Amino acid sequence: MHPTPPAKLPSCNPTRSFWIDSSPDANPLADEGSQDPLPSEADVCIIGAGITGVGVAYHLIELLNDGSFSVTHPFSIVILEARDFCQMLFIGRNGGHLTPTAFPKFAQRQALFNTLEAIKSYELEQYTVSLLVKIIEENGWATDIDLVEGGHINILFTEKEAKNKCKDFDMARQAQLNLDGVEWLSKEEVEEEYGAPYSGFREPEYNVWPLKLVTKLYQYARAHTGKYASLSLHTRTPVTAVTHGTASTYTVVTNRGSISCSRVVHATNAYASYLLPFLAGPDGIIPTRGQVMATRASVGIDQIRIPSWSGKEGFVYWFPRPVTQDTEKPLIIIGGSRDATAPSYELYVDDDSETHPLVGKALREFLPPVFEGKYDPDSEPEMEWTGIMGYTKMGDPFVGPVADLLVANPDRDLYKKQYIAAGYASHGMTRAFGCADVIAQMILAEISNKEWKEPDWLPQRYLTWNRRVE
Ligand SMILES: Cc1cc2nc3c(=O)[nH]c(=O)nc-3n(C[C@H](O)[C@H](O)[C@H](O)COP(=O)(O)OP(=O)(O)OC[C@H]3O[C@@H](n4cnc5c(N)ncnc54)[C@H](O)[C@@H]3O)c2cc1C
Repeated sequence: MHPTPPAKLPSCNPTRSFWIDSSPDANPLADEGSQDPLPSEADVCIIGAGITGVGVAYHLIELLNDGSFSVTHPFSIVILEARDFCQMLFIGRNGGHLTPTAFPKFAQRQALFNTLEAIKSYELEQYTVSLLVKIIEENGWATDIDLVEGGHINILFTEKEAKNKCKDFDMARQAQLNLDGVEWLSKEEVEEEYGAPYSGFREPEYNVWPLKLVTKLYQYARAHTGKYASLSLHTRTPVTAVTHGTASTYTVVTNRGSISCSRVVHATNAYASYLLPFLAGPDGIIPTRGQVMATRASVGIDQIRIPSWSGKEGFVYWFPRPVTQDTEKPLIIIGGSRDATAPSYELYVDDDSETHPLVGKALREFLPPVFEGKYDPDSEPEMEWTGIMGYTKMGDPFVGPVADLLVANPDRDLYKKQYIAAGYASHGMTRAFGCADVIAQMILAEISNKEWKEPDWLPQRYLTWNRRVE
C-alpha cells in the first residue's frame, strides 16, 4: 500500500459561498497586506488566517496587554495566508453554527477515555463559546456579525437515535456535567411549534456570520497591539516551506520572500500535512470535503421560527438567516449529508472547487418532507458550495508543540518551537478559539521561562504529547 501523500495547497478557484460572495462588503480584509513587503524578521509567524490563526494573534496580544506575561521588546506577530482572508476554507465556507455540544456522545467518550476527559470535551466548548459571546457583546458587534441566539434543536428521527441520546443524557447527568439549557421536546411540542412530527431536544446555541466574526477579531487585535506587540497580515502569501535558520530561528519561505522568526504556529487545519508531511494519512489530519447550500423557504419566518437545527445523528444541520419582516421568506443555510450519501464520505478530498451531486441531491430533498408545506421540493438553492474540513481519527484536534507528535523522527528538534492547533473535524467554531488561547499561553510561557498552566477545561487528549503520530 502506498503511503498517503501530504495535502496540496488550497485550490485557487473555490465554489462561491454565501458568507463570502453574497455581499460586497463581507470581506474587507480580502487582500490585506498582499502587496505590502514582508518583514524580514518576526517573533512569531502564524500560518493560516482562519479562526485559529487570528485567535492565536488575538490571545497573544490580550495576554501581553493584561500583564499575564511580559516581553523585553515589542513582540512582532505576522500572519501569512495562502489566499484571500478567510477565502478558501472553513470559516468562509462553513455552516455558521456556534453550538457548544451539550451532552451528545457523552457515553461513547466516557467509555473510550474516562469521565473527566468526557466532561472536559463539553467544558472546552462552553468556555470557547462563552468567551466569544462575551467579546462580541462587550464590543457591540452582535448586529454587525448577525449573532442570533435561540437554541439548537436536535430532531430525533428514529427510536435508536432517541435511545442513544437518552443514554448520553443520563450518563452526563450522573457525571454532574452542567446541563443548563437542555430541554426535551415531545413530538407534539415540536409539531405544534415548528411543524415537524418528531421529538427532539434543545441545546443552547448561537449562529453567526463566521467570516465577519473573524474579521472583527483581527481588527480588534490590530487596534490593541499597544506598546507590547505588533501585528500584520499578509494574504495571498502561501508558505511553501519552513526550514531551520541559524541558531534557534526558522526561515518561513513564501512565494513573496522569506521571514526569519523564532516561533511558528501551524493554523492550517485540513492542509497541515502540506508543511508537516508526517501528518498525512489516517493517524494525522485527513482533508474531508463538506457541502452547504442556501435555499429559500416557501413560507415566512413567522411559520419557520428562528432556531437552528440538526438531525439524522447530527449529519444534517440548518438554520434560517435573520430577516427584517415576519412574513419574509428566510434563506436557510443547510449543510451535511456527506456521511449518508457520498462514496468514501468525501474523506481525502481537498478540492473545494466542485460540489458533489449526490450530497447536493440529499440536501435538496431533506427539508420538504420534514416540514411539510414549508419548503418547495422543486426549488433550487440560491447558492451551493463546499469547504475542506480537517478530520482526525478521534475527531479531536492536535494542540501543542509539533515536536511532541514525533518520537523517532531525526528532524524532531526542527519542530521544537513550532506549534499546531488543527484538526477540528466538522465542529471547529466552538473549539478553535479556545485552542488558540492554549497555543498563545504556551508560547508566552516558553518565552518568559514560566511554567505553562494547563486550563481546567482542556481535554488531555488534545495535547500533542498525548498524540504521537509515529
Ligand atoms: C462545509 C463546512 C461546514 C462547517 N460547519 C461548521 C459549523 O456550522 N459549526 C462549526 O463549529 N464548525 C463548522 N465547520 C468547521 C469549522 O469551520 C472549522 O473547524 C474551523 O473553521 C477551523 O478553523 P481554522 O482556523 O483552524 O482553519 P481554516 O479556517 O481552514 O483556516 C486555515 C487557513 O490556513 C490557510 N493555509 C493553509 N495552508 C497554508 C499555507 N501553506 N500557507 C498559508 N496559508 C495556508 C488556508 O488558506 C486557511 O485560510 C464546517 C466546515 C466546513 C468545511
